[in-house]
Parts: sequence; C-alpha cells; structure tokens
Amino acid sequence: MNEFAKQHLYQRLERTTDALCLNRMDAHWCKTKEEALALVKTMLPQNAVVATGGSMTLEECGIIDLLRSGAYRYLDREAVAPEERGAIYRQAFSADVYLCSSNAVLESGALYNVDGNANRVAALTFGPESVIVVAGANKLVATLEDAVARVKRVAAPMNTMRLSQDTPCARCGVCAGIHGEMHKGCQSEQRICCSYVVNAWQRIPNRIKVILVAESLGY
Ligand code: SF4
Repeated sequence: MNEFAKQHLYQRLERTTDALCLNRMDAHWCKTKEEALALVKTMLPQNAVVATGGSMTLEECGIIDLLRSGAYRYLDREAVAPEERGAIYRQAFSADVYLCSSNAVLESGALYNVDGNANRVAALTFGPESVIVVAGANKLVATLEDAVARVKRVAAPMNTMRLSQDTPCARCGVCAGIHGEMHKGCQSEQRICCSYVVNAWQRIPNRIKVILVAESLGY
C-alpha cells in the first residue's frame, strides 16, 4: 500500500473509531493483527470464562489459539459434537467475555451482523458482561445500504462456501435476493441469513469493545 492509501485508510479507521466511541463502545484501531492480539490479551482476565462466535478473523489474528492456551476457561464450540453446540451457545450468554467479528462496521459508528442461528448476534447484543469485536479494514462501510450489500455480495457467499452450505450464494457468489430489501434472500434449508442486527448506541457504556485492524481479515 502506498503512503497516501495508507494515510487515507488510517483516517477512515480514526473516524470510525471516534464514531463508535460516541455510541459508547470502547473502540480502538491497530496497524497489524499482532497489535490486535496484544490488545485483546489486555482485555482478558486470567481464568475468565470466554466464548466466541464463528470467525475467520479471530483465527487469523491468533486469538483462537490464545483462548485455547489454557489461560482461560474457553467454551470451545469446535471441541464438542455438533449436537452439543446448542448447549455451548446458551452457556455463552453467561460468559465473562464474548469474542466475535462483525460482518460490517459502519463509519457512522455501528456494527451490522446477519446470523443463521442468531447465537452470535444474541450474545453480542445481550448477556456476556464484556464483548470484544475484532474486524479488519475490509469490513468498513460508509452506509447501512453498503453493509447490506457487503453481506449479500461478500460475507454470506464466502461463509456458505467455507461451511459447504447448499445455497444460491455458495454456487453463484452472490445472494439470490441481491436486488431486494435487506431481508430478501433464498428459500434454502441452509440459509445463513435469518436475523439482521444493527448495534448502535449502547445503554451499558464500554460493554462492547471494538478493535479495528488496518489489514484485510476474514470475510
Ligand atoms: S439469503 Fe441465502 S442466498 Fe442470500 S446470502 Fe443468505 S444464504 Fe446466501
């Protein structure tokens, strides 16, 4: 990235961080994923009960490895059989810290997420005492319309491919409802777009911590 592109990106990150803070989220931005990992560490009390939403970003930053290090009581959804995951999702509501990424981060200071089971948007919104959201600069969008389009064009197709879901977006690379309203989509049994949530102004200040990273991470 040349110097001006870098400067422009840093300005967007700074602007978005300020807007998130105005909405009473504890927002930060870092230049690298290594810096993000170090910052996450400072936010995790030793032996805390921690849970996560499914996230490539957390994996790419080394955060999942950190949670599995033994320093925390990690409710690891990957360590149990699929039929036991529902119990882990419910236990996550009383975790000390919940970690996830966001499908999009609005420069106006809000998070936009779309879930199939809604376990992630539910825990992000209510339950765990502390929530840490880590998101790469590729998740930044200017408007809610851009956030909706980002999920339909990028996040959902790539996630359904990764999860081997039989959906139109996995086959074609774009949502079947791309030209419709936010909630328009497919009729697939494996549809991952069912609950659409915007997190904006927070009643509990700093419950949600947001760490933006000046790198492309996840989908
Ligand atoms: S609604 Fe269906 S086709 Fe559209 S993005 Fe979601 S899973 Fe893919």
